[in-house]
Amino acid sequence: MPLQIGVPRESALGERRVALVPEICAKLAAQDMQVLVESGAGEAAYFPDDAFQSAGAHVVTRGEVLRADVLATVNGPGEDDLAHLRPESVVVGLIRPLDDAARMERIAATGATALAMDLVPRSTRAQSMDALSAMATVAGYRAVLLAAEALPRFFPLLTTAAGTMRPAKVLVLGAGVAGLQAIATARRLGAVVSAYDVRAAAAEEARSLGATFITLDLDTAGAEGGGGYAAALDDERQRRQVELLGAHVAAHDVVICTALVPGRRAPLLVSEEAVAGMQPGSVIVDLAAPNGGNCALTRPGVASHAGGVRIYGPLNLPAEMPVHASQMYARTMAALVGYFARDGAFAPAEDDEIFSGMCVTAGGQVLNERVRALLAPA
Ligand code: NAD
Repeated sequence: MPLQIGVPRESALGERRVALVPEICAKLAAQDMQVLVESGAGEAAYFPDDAFQSAGAHVVTRGEVLRADVLATVNGPGEDDLAHLRPESVVVGLIRPLDDAARMERIAATGATALAMDLVPRSTRAQSMDALSAMATVAGYRAVLLAAEALPRFFPLLTTAAGTMRPAKVLVLGAGVAGLQAIATARRLGAVVSAYDVRAAAAEEARSLGATFITLDLDTAGAEGGGGYAAALDDERQRRQVELLGAHVAAHDVVICTALVPGRRAPLLVSEEAVAGMQPGSVIVDLAAPNGGNCALTRPGVASHAGGVRIYGPLNLPAEMPVHASQMYARTMAALVGYFARDGAFAPAEDDEIFSGMCVTAGGQVLNERVRALLAPA
């Protein structure tokens, strides 16, 4: 029997991505895997059923998809799907284990093995499976387009018979994967871009994309965590950081917020006073909204106003660009499935570091220590 990979239609509100696209299904079929796609799974991403069929996938019902050996998802199983999972099932997706530990407990109760694409270790070997970076790239790009659309001014410098328009000034807070893509996109649109990050290594990357890197008079010792991630600052330095950033925020037309610290609330970088200092018509796009936001006035999932400044707190920008977002995500999913598949089975080697890093539940238990800590009674 070939290994069966099931692709359900995503059920989360507003989700338009699909976990595998036809091109990638053809590659998996060539590796002796059987791909079962729920009818309509790719519709919102413009991948119709017949495109999957032509690529060698089988278009089936949701019930059949849920019985596959491996359930390839974007957001993990829906609550209604849990009753259909079996102890042999392997579920893969961006399941946000540290944001919803109770859901991990419910998945564990099915006996299924849940692998979090959000916990793929940052190693060279696992790079092709790095779905978070792929989605951050899409989000950084879309955030700038959202800002450009909302800004009542041009992004580029324009010299016309009707006068010269100065270019927009864009500040990118957090120069990781999403931030660097935001810098590159804003530069392509002709804006003058500044960037800030606590990690010293980010400075060179931001500059190489044409941004001016802002250095604050702030002790950042210990601000670098492992794997390229940042660590949280203590309260006093966090307060000082917000204070020092205020003048920079006020001097920009657009602020794109992307700063995150894994497993924690997003750091507060833009205070209410800083927003009050911005010119009317300015725009803030806060990509950290799902984790509480970098701006004090961000309302997750909502576009709001504060004294003439528009503040966007988008929760899922990759879903708004579903073709390439699905294509990129599908590549990371196929790399993962291909890595663990052996002789028609999903068979990770014992003590495989990628597997242990991303395995959240198995054998009826929550295995991930950080999720367990969140579930432990206070
Ligand atoms: P992330 O999404 O966790 O955070 C985004 C950015 O916010 C980071 O650059 C972080 O330093 C910054 N940040 C956090 N707290 C801040 C604060 N208080 N003030 C200012 N900025 C703050 O991180 P990410 O974008 O996923 O990754 C960051 C870096 O990791 C990348 O730039 C890359 O160099 C590295 N990386 C390595 C691999 C790999 O080795 N396979 C994969 C992806 C990324």
